Amino acid sequence: MDLLDKKERRGSSAVVNLKGLLKRNWLLIATVVSVLLGIALGVVVREYTSLSHLHKQYFGFPGEILMRMLKLIILPLIISSMITGVAALDSEVSGKIGLRAVVYYFSTTIIAVILGIILVMTIKPGVSQTADHIEREGTTPNVTTVDTLLDLVRNMFPENLVQACFQQYKTKRKELEPARVTTENATTTIPPLTTSLMAAMENITREYKIVGAYTDGINVLGLIVFCVAFGLVIGKMGERGRILLELFDALNEATMKLVQIIMCYMPVGILFLIAAKIIEVDDWEIFRKMGLYMVTVLSGLAIHATVCLPLIFFIIVRKNPFTFTLGMAQALVTALMISSSSATLPVTFRCAEENNRIDKRITRFVLPVGATINMDGTALYEAVAAIFIAQLNDYQLDVGQIVTISITATVASIGAAGVPNAGLVTMVIVLTAVGLPANDVTLIVAVDWLLDRFRTMINVLGDAYGAGIVQKLSRRELDRMDAVAGMTPSGSEDLANPFALETDDEDAEKKSYVNGGFTVDKTDAISFTETSQF
Ligand code: ASP
Repeated sequence: MDLLDKKERRGSSAVVNLKGLLKRNWLLIATVVSVLLGIALGVVVREYTSLSHLHKQYFGFPGEILMRMLKLIILPLIISSMITGVAALDSEVSGKIGLRAVVYYFSTTIIAVILGIILVMTIKPGVSQTADHIEREGTTPNVTTVDTLLDLVRNMFPENLVQACFQQYKTKRKELEPARVTTENATTTIPPLTTSLMAAMENITREYKIVGAYTDGINVLGLIVFCVAFGLVIGKMGERGRILLELFDALNEATMKLVQIIMCYMPVGILFLIAAKIIEVDDWEIFRKMGLYMVTVLSGLAIHATVCLPLIFFIIVRKNPFTFTLGMAQALVTALMISSSSATLPVTFRCAEENNRIDKRITRFVLPVGATINMDGTALYEAVAAIFIAQLNDYQLDVGQIVTISITATVASIGAAGVPNAGLVTMVIVLTAVGLPANDVTLIVAVDWLLDRFRTMINVLGDAYGAGIVQKLSRRELDRMDAVAGMTPSGSEDLANPFALETDDEDAEKKSYVNGGFTVDKTDAISFTETSQF
């Protein structure tokens, strides 16, 4: 009788556990199911109907709405999280956190590039075929290393804050008339010459001028720089800055609530996004031709995500990296579906803060910057693609050129925006740096939409691990701030992912931190305290 009771109790507790697990992870489960349904729907519609181009676009409408909603939320999210994140730390602490984040970004990006180079040199995906066997698609983007780097700096200092919310600067070069040589003080006309001499002269005298231009898209870098400066100033203002801090903190809370609502729509949007993509692709043959190249990129990304990043995380944080990855699952699936680390940012925030319990002081600071400049997946891809193109052209690369590829791939990944196919555009920098034809970027366009999804996923994962690692390294400073606030040291232990566990740690939710006399709840609310340092 007793035994029966025990069995029954154990059985019912298993049911309760399962229910709890489903309840806590319903959104992730629904998203994964919607991916599978989307694939099935895409295949069925593709096989059994013949939709016109227009109808195919209508079909993707619910997915388009999801993308619009996620993009919509980026602006208030970045502004409110960066300002409150920085204002909550004193300038010394934010400097240290910033430095740790940048060191992490650089080292992991370099590791990704080296891994990519090793794989592509071992697998040699381009050796067995030539460029003639692959069809070219699209036109070559017009970018140069110097202009990309200068644009990066220009965009850090937008000339108009409102414009930075929807446009960014992009240099365009215009070639000057070949017959005219511009000297420092005057413009001289070249006298008529023989044709061959003229051609030689053209090479020498080819002159360009920069025509400043703006392109559509949020200037995230400019907004980040402004918000960091603004947050630092508010943090130093003491009581007078309190209203602003409260305003942005409330804005952040409201934005995260909107994110929660958007995430409920996510399974529907994702279902149609994936189905529409499957219907849209008309050349599946290309995947066979480019198979080895894709295997090289994908295996590099997989090794980086399952070995390199987790190892670094484990060495520093001493927690299970895979439970951490599971906690980020929703953000990873989103990145895979929408190919944009910026648009995934709202979901990355929620997963990092709610599932992995990373301190808001860290996420608010580290995640937006990471989504903009830390792109391990893109860097790995750019290195592999450049060497693949060299192999296709039978072009022997020496050690110096391989080092150049590593450096330019790192720069190109930093310069790439967190939007779909950005890596393909900055790819030209890597190619031209080693004298490969920039035009050859058109060879890899056909499969880029698929690789882009996977590299975006790794970009997002790299940012999340970065937040966990920087939190661990900054523990002492954070605890000191907590001590100033008169609170118990805060939840470093919370980093152990409670992904599948219920955390009832109400206290952890209520712990607060102090800067410039403000006590800021790690959740959201701000209250002014008597412990003002000013
Ligand atoms: N789509 C990538 C991202 O948003 C950038 C890239 O094209 O590599 O992170």
